[in-house]
Amino acid sequence: ILTWPEFWNKNKSRIGVTSEEVEIVDKSLANKISIWEGDITKLDIDAIVNAANSSLMGGGGVDGAIHRGAGGYLKQECATLGGCDVGEAKITGAYMLPAKYVIHTVGPQGEKPEKLQRCYENSLNVAKQNGVRTIAFPCISTGIYGYPQKPAARVALSTVKKFLLANPDSIDRVIFCLFLKSDQEIYEDLLQKQFYDD
Ligand code: ADP
Repeated sequence: ILTWPEFWNKNKSRIGVTSEEVEIVDKSLANKISIWEGDITKLDIDAIVNAANSSLMGGGGVDGAIHRGAGGYLKQECATLGGCDVGEAKITGAYMLPAKYVIHTVGPQGEKPEKLQRCYENSLNVAKQNGVRTIAFPCISTGIYGYPQKPAARVALSTVKKFLLANPDSIDRVIFCLFLKSDQEIYEDLLQKQFYDD
């Protein structure tokens, strides 16, 4: 498990954008976005986002990994929250995980762009309200919930971009934590094409 500066030093050549790309885009915005391949539970940052289900009581995929890593106290805290509607977000401690907080959001089942957009927006708003400066997202809804990867990535990138432009002083870094090789290819492509150029 790495501290944030260690993580950044070790991975900076693999994440973010190249200096060449930074030249042609809004520098402050480009410097706030990273993609990173791996397990979200390993990140020592302010907050990791959980693709939860509406019970908030744990499940498969990234939700299972977060609950296993955080330990039983996470479930105890989640049990006090009264569940979470699709598109909403709720924050808890991260317990035995290196991150400070877990932000739980419930993605839509299937391709429902407005709902997915609300997941990213509400997670970022909850982060902002809690003083979170570094946050990592998994690819919400694209596993068990069956949202096609590429359209989901488009929603993720455009929603995060909109938030960062509207809230320039809130969040320092948004990491898209990509677990699958196929998502890495999609995000690398879209980051340049859709995020920076539009
Ligand atoms: P959903 O129910 O919202 O579809 P899943 O957990 O099934 O959520 O899948 C969401 C994404 O999270 C998928 O891309 C999956 O590969 C990825 N994933 C699974 N485990 C992890 C993990 N430990 N860290 C980061 N991403 C993960």
